[in-house]
Amino acid sequence: MVHSSVLGFPRIGANREVKKAVEAYWAGKLSADELTKAAADVKKTSWTSLKQHGVDFIPSGDFSLYDHVLDHSAAFNVIPKRYLGHKLSPLDVYFAMGRGRQGDGVDVPASEMKKWFDSNYHFVVPEFSEETEFKLLFNKAVEEFKEAQLAGVVTRPVVLGPISFLVLGKAAKEAKPGFQPISLLPKLLLVYKQLLSELKDAGAEWVQVDEPILVLDVAANHEAAFSTAYKELVPVAPAILLATYYGRLDSNVKIVPKLGVAGLHIDLDRAPEQLTQVLEVIKSTNIVLSLGVVSGRSIWKNDIAASVKLGQKAIEVIGSERVIVATSSSLLHTPVTLAGEKKMSAEHKDWFAFALEKAEEVATIAAVLSSSQDSKVTAAFEANKASITKRRDFERTSDDAVRKRVAAITPDMLNRKSPFAVRNEVQKQKLQLPKFPTTTIGSFPQTKEIRTARAKLGKKEITEEEYNEFIKKEIESVVRFQERIGLDMLVHGEPERNDMVQYFGERLNGFVFTENAWVQSYGSRYVRPPIIVSDVSRPGPMTVEWSKYAQSLTTKPMKGMLTGPVTILNWSFPRVDVSREVQCKQLALALRDEVIDLEHAGIHAVQVDEPALREGLPLRRVDWDAYLGWALPSFKLATAGVTDALQTHSHFCYSDFDDIFSSIQDLDADVISIEASKSDLKLLNTFKRYGYSNKIGPGVYDIHSPRVPSEQEIKDRIAAMLQTLPADLLYVNPDCGLKTRGWKETEASLANLVNAARWARQNH
Ligand code: GLN
Ligand code: ZN
Repeated sequence: MVHSSVLGFPRIGANREVKKAVEAYWAGKLSADELTKAAADVKKTSWTSLKQHGVDFIPSGDFSLYDHVLDHSAAFNVIPKRYLGHKLSPLDVYFAMGRGRQGDGVDVPASEMKKWFDSNYHFVVPEFSEETEFKLLFNKAVEEFKEAQLAGVVTRPVVLGPISFLVLGKAAKEAKPGFQPISLLPKLLLVYKQLLSELKDAGAEWVQVDEPILVLDVAANHEAAFSTAYKELVPVAPAILLATYYGRLDSNVKIVPKLGVAGLHIDLDRAPEQLTQVLEVIKSTNIVLSLGVVSGRSIWKNDIAASVKLGQKAIEVIGSERVIVATSSSLLHTPVTLAGEKKMSAEHKDWFAFALEKAEEVATIAAVLSSSQDSKVTAAFEANKASITKRRDFERTSDDAVRKRVAAITPDMLNRKSPFAVRNEVQKQKLQLPKFPTTTIGSFPQTKEIRTARAKLGKKEITEEEYNEFIKKEIESVVRFQERIGLDMLVHGEPERNDMVQYFGERLNGFVFTENAWVQSYGSRYVRPPIIVSDVSRPGPMTVEWSKYAQSLTTKPMKGMLTGPVTILNWSFPRVDVSREVQCKQLALALRDEVIDLEHAGIHAVQVDEPALREGLPLRRVDWDAYLGWALPSFKLATAGVTDALQTHSHFCYSDFDDIFSSIQDLDADVISIEASKSDLKLLNTFKRYGYSNKIGPGVYDIHSPRVPSEQEIKDRIAAMLQTLPADLLYVNPDCGLKTRGWKETEASLANLVNAARWARQNH
């Protein structure tokens, strides 16, 4: 009999209950107990619905109020000292680590956040030092296991594995030079043993231990750590299913048989080809193999017949008792259920599967592989075949004009007319900016009024004209604000955008939208990625009217604002029938037309944001060139169609540039703005080392937290930047858009920023 399993479930609630509860708690409108209750309701609903859908191995312990890695740090007492001693409750310490805290005499910035593997989910980076004293402050796995039990559901708890925990973390500032978190493994294992043996005592038969770093090159350096760790853990733990996901194990697979674990999970959505190799390696062991055939990263319906084939192949080699059918990874990256889509057409709905529908898929595949005669299973299998055929038929239709245009792209379309040095002179004349020009990354606070107006338009409670008038007023007030406060290069503030990707998707052909398909990006920030379903093209200008209007209000230069092709692709659910390269180039051509239109409309600068360029990098280094080989040309294609006088900007939300530096230089944007505030300006040295030649605005403060940076802090940052970067290349800006911030802190922060830049002009 083949069992089915889900590796993790969305923790946001079908109606974003968790976001609402967490934010209400932060606002002081909900007590800690009420928050716990709201979370418990969401967990219970997830567990019971997975059970109803026939899933055998149901996860627990994967829930989180903010981030599962942060939960793990908090549980293991990996809490930096700066968060302690403020008389905060453990829950408030936890949130302070995630988002910073300011008020009542407390003023601590948030911990560093990083993208989780190649996804748009962010985790809070654990900080380790020689001083780290691991202690099990609470055992989430046991607590949730029992909580689920009370709800009548037996679960397989999920725990982040020790090697991944250490390797994904970083050395704290106070650690000695050369300190490696992995050196803490012996101490850490004591706590893991306690955690896992408590779980065993609580009656858990299995535990899913996640070691996703096994799909990275870096795991090969930790072979000894893996064997030490699991040799100690296996005897005291429930049966361990070692879970890997998001990629292929490659040679790391040889580490697995030596660990003594009872099961291994592999991702066959991202890397179906690894099945043969893995089977070969585990064939002569007793290891149970969990086949991640149902994608945890896409929203496309599973091709059940194809998954069944993979399952049969595994059964032939190791027998059905050793095979589990599973989602490829946690379903954290997928929306909760298609049932939330009331407006989606039946044709479109038939193409997709969200988390709950995926749970049904794993159950069906497992039943088919177990030769179930249940008529419901046969019906589900037949219905799936019919849906897959319909989608394939649709995929055969294409927009020939778009395909021809992509085929006709020539190399000269990728380069600006003159090199940067020449453009720089032309732009200097045209823009007349002071030294250390100040600007922002684009968005200003998306207030409740803005969201209400948009919702009213959606419900047709106001007309298109009324909405446009409202947006114009918003733009005007943002422009006036920027003038008043003294910013140099202005933006229109993006009030018309629900989201930086969705807004463009809605104005392009080839996308489908959802009403309720939210996925967590970080903390209480959720996004609703559009779905690319067919060839992409631009029916008409998308942003030109707004930017033109904003420019008409001021004599200061206005910066147009677009989302780049790679980011639109990476933050959408892409098609799986056409390569990402082709989809990206289609997007790039559409954006190229928009950039040219903006220049013709009298806009002085255009920023094309590519915050997702880096997260799209393949997890294995050998695959990088192939990705960069189309991602970089796509950005260039989008931005190179203009005259020398147009200043192109680009923005990146990360600071890890070391390994892709030459790619950033290759983009040849006139100005780039980057996140820098949280990375201790380490990256500036990278820019110096490589001799970056174009202009650059390293963020002078962290916008992901409501904390207001002092003027002195910003001056110190500018001074630090000037130690490494030439003054005439520097822009002064925050490290990302301000849409998630309130006006109060935005005004205070930007006033400090402008004053700090003025100080720099006088003193440097
Ligand atoms: N222009 C966008 C904004 O300001 C950029 C956001 C981002 O990089 N994530 O909101
Ligand atoms: Zn950003």
